[in-house]
Amino acid sequence: MAKLKNLEKYKEMVYTCLRCGSCRDLWDPKENVYGTCPIREHTGGFDVYFMRGKLMLARKALEGVIEPSEDMAKYIYLCSTCGNCEAHCRISQTSPGKVDREKTKLDQIKVIEAFRADLVDLGLALPRHKAFADSISKNHNPYGEPHDARLAWMPEGFEMPEGDPEIIYFVGCTSAYRRTELAKATVDVLRKAGVPFKIMHPDEWCCGSPLLRTGQRGLAEEVAGHNLDAIRRSGIGTVVTSCAGCYRTLKLDYKDLFGDLGFEVKHISEVVNDLIGEGRLKLKRPLAMKATYHDPCHLGRHCDYYDPPRELIAKLKGVEFVEMPRTRSGAWCCGSGGGMKSAFGELAIEIATDRLKEAKEVGAEYLLSCCPFCKHNFLDAKRAMGSDLEIYDLIELVSQAT
Ligand code: SF4
Ligand code: SF4
Repeated sequence: MAKLKNLEKYKEMVYTCLRCGSCRDLWDPKENVYGTCPIREHTGGFDVYFMRGKLMLARKALEGVIEPSEDMAKYIYLCSTCGNCEAHCRISQTSPGKVDREKTKLDQIKVIEAFRADLVDLGLALPRHKAFADSISKNHNPYGEPHDARLAWMPEGFEMPEGDPEIIYFVGCTSAYRRTELAKATVDVLRKAGVPFKIMHPDEWCCGSPLLRTGQRGLAEEVAGHNLDAIRRSGIGTVVTSCAGCYRTLKLDYKDLFGDLGFEVKHISEVVNDLIGEGRLKLKRPLAMKATYHDPCHLGRHCDYYDPPRELIAKLKGVEFVEMPRTRSGAWCCGSGGGMKSAFGELAIEIATDRLKEAKEVGAEYLLSCCPFCKHNFLDAKRAMGSDLEIYDLIELVSQAT
C-alpha cells in the first residue's frame, strides 16, 4: 500500500464529504440547474472529473483499495483548484457562499494539493509540471526564460520616484515574461503617484505558486524561502503584487510555510484605491466603455478579495460597470490555474470561452481582471473564438486614466 503521508493529514476532511453532489451542480430558482465545476462541464460528467469523485479516489487510495497510478494522477490533476466546489459545498461553508479557511471542516484545495504532493513523491507528477519545475530550478521562472531577462520589460529611461522605497513591487513571472503590459502599467501608476518602490532583481524568483498548486513542495519551499529572506533583508514593510497567484502565495502560503511574515502583502488594486483616496494619484482622463469584472480564483475565493477591484472600477470615469451572473464567490474560473494551462492547455482555453460568452451576454465590451494568468488565458480564448471582446487588466485601465 502506497504511503500517502500528506493526504493522511487530511483524512478526516476526506471522510467528511457527504457525497451530496453540490460540487457537480446546483439548483437555483432563477437559474434552474447550473454547473459548479468547470472541468466537469467540459469533460462529460463522470464523478472523477469533479470534487466528489476526487474525494472518493482519495478515500480509496488512503484505504489501499486503489493504488496510485498515472490514471489516478490524471484525474487529480484535472482540477484548476478554482475552489468553486468549496464555495458551494455545505460542509465547507461557514455561511452561505463563504468559506472560512480557518474554520472549515472540508478544504478541498488543501486536500487536492496534499494528494498531489504524494503523487509527486511517488513519481507520478505530470511531465509538463516537471518541466516547469526544472525551469524554475534553473532559471527561477517556469517559462524557460533567462533570469537575466526578468527586467527586460522595464521601459527604457524609466525614472524611479525619489526617496526611500515605501514598497517592494513583486513583479511575478507571468508579468515579467508573458504579460509585460501589466508590469509596465504597474510601474507607470506607481511613478505617477510618486511612490518610491523597489524591485528585487536579481533576488526576485518565482513566488512558488505553480509548484505549490501542483504538489511540488520541496522546490516550492526553497524558492519561497529565498524570496522571504530577500524581502526581510530589504527591511521594507509592504510587498505589492499585480498578480493574483503571487498575492495568494505570498499572503497565505508563505504564512503557512514560515509563520508570521513581518511584512504586509497587498494587491495593487488596494494600493491604487488608497493612493487615489490620499490625493496622490489623480484620475485625469475619462474612459468610454461598458465593462465587466472577472474575479480571479486566487484573489476571490482563495483570499476573499472581492471589493477593492470593484471600488476602483467605480472610481474610473466613463466606465459603465455590469456584473456577470456568476460573480464573486460564484465566479466561473478562467480555467488556467492549478497546472491546467500547462498540462491541459486546450481544456483551459475551452473553459475560458465560457467566461467570454458570459461577458458578451451582459453586454460588456471589456472583460477586466486583476491577474496576468487570467488575461493570458482569456486572450487565447479570444483568438480561438474570434471574439471582439476587449481583454484588459484593471491596472492597465488605471494607467490609461491617470
Ligand atoms: S465535496 Fe461537498 S459538495 Fe461535494 S459531494 Fe462532498 S459534501 Fe457534497
Ligand atoms: S476546485 Fe474547481 S476545478 Fe477543481 S474540482 Fe472544484 S470546482 Fe472543479
